[in-house]
Amino acid sequence: MGQKVKCLKCGQTIEGDLKGTFIQCKCSKTAIDQTGQYIRLIGNKKDFKLINS
Ligand SMILES: [Zn+2]
Repeated sequence: MGQKVKCLKCGQTIEGDLKGTFIQCKCSKTAIDQTGQYIRLIGNKKDFKLINS
């Protein structure tokens, strides 16, 4: 299960796939790149929110 992050600009929630794929929300303000070793969040901190499920 990947880390979920919600873009506060467009409201889309994206999720890391644990394979290092660069996944962007539809407005491209927020993106995530996640593997088993690291999580990289791209965007302004105030423009996204981490979702802990
Ligand atoms: Zn967005």
